[in-house]
Amino acid sequence: MGQAPVVSLTWDRRVPARCATVKSFTGLQRSKQPMPDRYAVIGHPIAHSKSPLIHGLFAQATGQDMTYDMIDGGAEPGGFDRALASFRTAGGRGLNVTLPFKLQALAAATQASDDARLAGAANALRFDGDRIEAQNFDGIGLVRDIEHNLGLPLTGKRVLLLGAGGATRGALLPLARAGVARLVLANRTAAKATGLAREAAPHLGGCVVEGGGLADLTASDTFDLVINATSSSLSGEAPAVPASAFASAALAYDMVYGKGLTPFLKAAQAARCTRVADGVGMLVEQAAEAFAWWRGVRPDTRDVLARLTVPLV
Ligand code: NAP
Repeated sequence: MGQAPVVSLTWDRRVPARCATVKSFTGLQRSKQPMPDRYAVIGHPIAHSKSPLIHGLFAQATGQDMTYDMIDGGAEPGGFDRALASFRTAGGRGLNVTLPFKLQALAAATQASDDARLAGAANALRFDGDRIEAQNFDGIGLVRDIEHNLGLPLTGKRVLLLGAGGATRGALLPLARAGVARLVLANRTAAKATGLAREAAPHLGGCVVEGGGLADLTASDTFDLVINATSSSLSGEAPAVPASAFASAALAYDMVYGKGLTPFLKAAQAARCTRVADGVGMLVEQAAEAFAWWRGVRPDTRDVLARLTVPLV
């Protein structure tokens, strides 16, 4: 079986970020210079990933000597583990992990954060000798985007989280840590949300968590923040949320990004919700968290966010 294909995005700190180029893996060799630290994102498929661009811009802005590659782990069983071993053997320092390998990344770890454990998945790995540390920064990036970029403090807020998949799992602990008062999980398959709420409740401190079906939401269930953590927008659909779910001045947040005004965000606007956002800030902020974890310096995200934002029209 062949090795996982690797594409490398590298950059020269003397030229503007938009001059970053895609090179073959051997293009990384720099004679008479110490080798830069190596990072990558692994997934399948991976060509669409924005992570090389984001981390390239972060590295350039913070002056870090590093490379950031794309690794396609392939569809065959064992592909992720082989690519992981080969990357570590070659001196790799850390990986971002995207679909479908987030569960396998956690399973490969020797240490895992509480966020990764409750999420049941890791989206970032750090290598230190024999140690493989796992983190899940998706929910942390979500909270950072909502509070810092969108200006909605979460303390005491009522939050409706639509969905009960990986993105929902990853958001639970960070939302509770941010001081959310009430968290309702509503999913197309009600039993998944009920089970997840029951599993998460002991870990969420003072945050009251409930789970059920979308149809269980009543007119008295009103929220300051409604997050679409389903993949419905990818198929041009919206979860069936009653208009009464949106409090006046509520924020409607779709985790999907780059799709403009999604059916969920349109439905929120039709319910007189004036504040809508997509998940591009979550993507950029989770990347900044991983970058800080690896390099010890947190990049400013504003320029990168502005560059990746697709207008919500
Ligand atoms: P997942 O684990 O596959 O879960 C998908 C969820 O969506 C399930 O709860 C599923 O309900 C629900 N769903 C799918 N189609 C639906 C529809 N037409 N109507 C109502 N519910 C529907 O996916 P995930 O990893 O949680 O990802 C969810 C979304 O978050 C994706 O769009 C992903 O792109 C986005 N995301 C964004 C970021 C970011 O950085 N911005 C990070 C992570 C994820 P059932 O249980 O009934 O099947």
